[in-house]
Amino acid sequence: MSWEMPDAWDLPRARYSGWACVWCGASLAQGATPAGRATSERGEYYAVDVFECLPGVGCMAPSKPAPST
Ligand SMILES: [Zn+2]
Repeated sequence: MSWEMPDAWDLPRARYSGWACVWCGASLAQGATPAGRATSERGEYYAVDVFECLPGVGCMAPSKPAPST
């Protein structure tokens, strides 16, 4: 995975809460894979574990390009 982790403060609630894929925003109700840790040093240091789509699903499907944002 080479996509750049977003700043933790920029994550919508669903993403930093682990409800949605950190990359594409898809619902993770069907399951999720740990995507790493988003951090921010804006103000106080802040870090949150984030999740991504399961392999073959959503942005992890082989035919889907990487998100542009
Ligand atoms: Zn995704």
